[in-house]
Amino acid sequence: MKLSRRDFLATSSVALGTVTHALGQTPAAPAAPAPPQTSFDPLRGNVGIFSGRGGTIGMFVAPDGLVVVDTQFPDTAKIALGNLKQMSPRQIDFLINTHHHGDHTSGNAVFRPSAAKHVAHKNVPALQKTQAAAGKSEAQQAYADTTYDTTWSEKVGAETISLKYYGPGHTSGDSVVTFQNANIVHMGDLMFYQRHPRVDRPAGASIRNWIVTLESVAKEHPADTIYVAGHAKVNLPVNVTRADLLKFRDYFSGLLDYVQKGIASGRAATEIVKVATVPGFADYEGSPEGTIQAAYEELTAKG
Ligand SMILES: [Zn+2]
Repeated sequence: MKLSRRDFLATSSVALGTVTHALGQTPAAPAAPAPPQTSFDPLRGNVGIFSGRGGTIGMFVAPDGLVVVDTQFPDTAKIALGNLKQMSPRQIDFLINTHHHGDHTSGNAVFRPSAAKHVAHKNVPALQKTQAAAGKSEAQQAYADTTYDTTWSEKVGAETISLKYYGPGHTSGDSVVTFQNANIVHMGDLMFYQRHPRVDRPAGASIRNWIVTLESVAKEHPADTIYVAGHAKVNLPVNVTRADLLKFRDYFSGLLDYVQKGIASGRAATEIVKVATVPGFADYEGSPEGTIQAAYEELTAKG
C-alpha cells in the first residue's frame, strides 16, 4: 500500500510530534518504554562488567569485599544494584567514580546508601556540581566523600584497588582504576573502543596529555592486563587489550596530525571538521566532528 503524506504523518506521531500537533491531530499515546537492556559479564579475579545505558560499570564481588566503579543512570543503576545484592549480601566497601559525567554518576544516589565510602579524584565534585547546575539536576546528585590528588589505594579483602590521576585527559578528573590481583584496569572514558571520543575541554580535557596517559598506562601494567573501556562501538566488547589502548593513542596522534596540517595550510576550523572520519580510522563509530573541533581548539589555544 502506498501511504499518502497525511497517512505518513499520522503514523509518525512520535518522530514528528510537532507536525501532527500542527495538523490538529491528537498524538497517539506513547507505548510504555521497554525496560533497558542490561547484562553482567564476569571477566576474571572476581571482577565483572555491567552494561546497560551509559558508561560501563565495573564490579568487584568477593566474599570479603565489594567495589563498584561508576553508576550510569538511576534506572540501570537499580538493576545493577539488584544484581549485586543477589551475588552478595555485603555492604559495598567502595563506590568509585572514574569522572563526573552524567552517564557515569547519575546512578550515584541509587548506590550511595549501600556503600561505606565514595571515592573520586579531587576535581570531580566541583565538576559534577557545575554540570548539575547546568542541567538543573542538583537534587539528584551524590558526591564523592573521599578524594585524592595523584594516587589512592586500599586493600579490599585479598584484592588491592588503586586509583591514579595522570593529569588532564577526557576531563580534568579522570581516574584509572586498577584491580591488581585480577589484573584488570577500568579506564572510565579515557578509553573509547572504536568510537570517536568526547573531549570535554570546558572540563579541562587535553588530547596531548591523553596520548601521554594512554602510553603510561600501557607501560605501567602487564602485557595481559584486561582494560575496561567506558564506551565501545555498538556490538563490540568493552573489555579490550593493550594493543587496543595503543591503537586509541595512535588515533589521537593521527587526529592532531590531521588538524595541525589543516591549520598549517590555512584552512578554517569549519572546513577541517568536514570530513567523514579521522584519516585511517574509518571503522570508528559516530561523527568525528566534535573530536576534531576539540583538537582544533587545543592546537590553536593561546598560552
Ligand atoms: Zn565521560
